[in-house]
Amino acid sequence: MTQASFATHEVLNQSPPFCDVDLFALDRPLADAVAANGGASAQAELSEFGKHWGSAAMAERGRLANENTPKLRTFDSRGNRRDEVEFHPAYHELMARSAHAGLHNSTWDAQGKPAAGAAGVVRAAKFYMAAGVETGHLCPITMTRASVAALAAEPDLLAKLMPAISTRAYDPTFAPWWTKRGMTLGMGMTEKQGGADVRSNVTRAMRDGNGYRITGHKWFMSAPMCDAFLVLAQTDEGLTCFFMPRFVPDGSVNAIQFLRLKDKLGNRSNASSEVEFAGAYATRIGDEGRGIRTIIQMVQLTRQDCAIASAGLMRSGLAHALHHARHRSVFQKHLADQPLMASVLADMALHVEASIALVMRLCHAFDRAPDDPAEAAYMRLLTAAIKYWVCKSAPGFLYEAMECLGGNGYVEEGILARHFRESPVNAIWEGSGNVMCLDVLRALSREADAAASVLQRLAGQTGGLPGAGEAVAFIAGTFRRPDSERVARLAVEKLALLAAAAALNGTSPHHAELFAATRLAGNHPGMYGAVDLSSDDVRGLMERALP
Ligand SMILES: Cc1cc2nc3c(=O)[nH]c(=O)nc-3n(C[C@H](O)[C@H](O)[C@H](O)COP(=O)(O)OP(=O)(O)OC[C@H]3O[C@@H](n4cnc5c(N)ncnc54)[C@H](O)[C@@H]3O)c2cc1C
Repeated sequence: MTQASFATHEVLNQSPPFCDVDLFALDRPLADAVAANGGASAQAELSEFGKHWGSAAMAERGRLANENTPKLRTFDSRGNRRDEVEFHPAYHELMARSAHAGLHNSTWDAQGKPAAGAAGVVRAAKFYMAAGVETGHLCPITMTRASVAALAAEPDLLAKLMPAISTRAYDPTFAPWWTKRGMTLGMGMTEKQGGADVRSNVTRAMRDGNGYRITGHKWFMSAPMCDAFLVLAQTDEGLTCFFMPRFVPDGSVNAIQFLRLKDKLGNRSNASSEVEFAGAYATRIGDEGRGIRTIIQMVQLTRQDCAIASAGLMRSGLAHALHHARHRSVFQKHLADQPLMASVLADMALHVEASIALVMRLCHAFDRAPDDPAEAAYMRLLTAAIKYWVCKSAPGFLYEAMECLGGNGYVEEGILARHFRESPVNAIWEGSGNVMCLDVLRALSREADAAASVLQRLAGQTGGLPGAGEAVAFIAGTFRRPDSERVARLAVEKLALLAAAAALNGTSPHHAELFAATRLAGNHPGMYGAVDLSSDDVRGLMERALP
């Protein structure tokens, strides 16, 4: 309960808490993007999710899980190894709610095949709303979902795992996965000497009966209480992907030894470990020497989730900023009615609207890819470009959202400080900015014809939008340059902007026009609000973003 008055003053002119809202019903751009990408029939389900995740109780769980960070229990009191990480009950509650909603598995059927219909779009809408409430716990959720794509290389293993992966139960007990009601999976690739360059991995795998023994380390391995990890290690044939469970088949604890947990800028509810494998048991996934090819199936999906989560963080920042500006008065007017603040908020709303339209368009491509080569090409070319643009735009955006709340935005009682600290990580992990740009170049050179037809489709979908024709010519020309790597950021950003304008044209053509005019026809200035939008457009954008 808040105290209404103090001995010296009454508390006036503060915005009420933004909670106990339906996160879906309040978000018209989200509803439009979901509907445009095949998810219209899921409205009631999404609204139920939006109400639950928009509740004050869920916001409180997010706060508690971040203030009470995970603790590594390396040994017991008698000196035996424990290698367990303890989490606050609020973290477990968030995990249980996300699992209950199928965020960790609903894009797969019970056999581990891609689920039918708009499963990816509907899950993405939930993931986006959840990310606006608490993002750290989504790390094991996203890795579990994504691991199925790599496990597909070992159908017998996948068939054994799916009964545990496909349940909607969250089971945090430290026990062998085959005894549990539900399981989570993590991923260990990064070593001290190289994260982007995983070919430099020095961890070794030696054959041992039907399995392997793995010796070495990982420098970042998040969510260490997962039941199993997909791990890269060297064999005589080269880098290979392995399935490493916490317990070996005889039921004893595997030789996975955690050294410490990272002390991170954000993402604090989630544990990220430094770990040694002291001859840890593992089985192979895919052929020896094909580790990158195997695990990249998983990484494509985690990259997709990075973009969804960053869009969700920005949406939450925008909603809090708009809500505050509509209640806070300065100089006899609500902030939201001050023309300069309205320009800032409207321009931010345009960025979020384009981001969610683009992200949902990408999720549609993932949904359709198994049956539609054109959508598969869109997915392969644009996942890296979209991750690059959406994730890298989040820190600057959230800083601006924070400033809309003035000093209240900067303190830890509110959610914006946490969102801001969280926001850089999605750009850094799962392929940092430059690595994403190089990936786009690689996709272009490997599949030049498919890439050309994706660009042609984008050109068709943006025909007539300001700056779109020039952008298409610039992208095609820049990628053909012999020094394309040096200027890749220029072209990849333009490609993402073009794809965003195309996606927005499918959900809200007038806003696609505004987006293209302010982002494609000229370079968007460094600051939000440094644009010339009409008063009607300013009002319209703010109303769509938060009625
Ligand atoms: C909170 C957190 C959790 C993590 N969890 C996990 C996990 O669970 N499992 C896991 O395996 N890893 C995890 N990581 C590691 C993460 O994936 C790596 O940090 C990331 O891939 C970058 O690798 P690196 O740190 O070795 O940096 P580097 O690879 O050294 O890269 C440094 C910089 O150089 C750039 N760069 C790299 N190559 C090129 C090039 N050819 N040209 C131009 N620029 C280039 C990169 O874009 C980057 O900006 C986590 C990281 C963080 C921060």
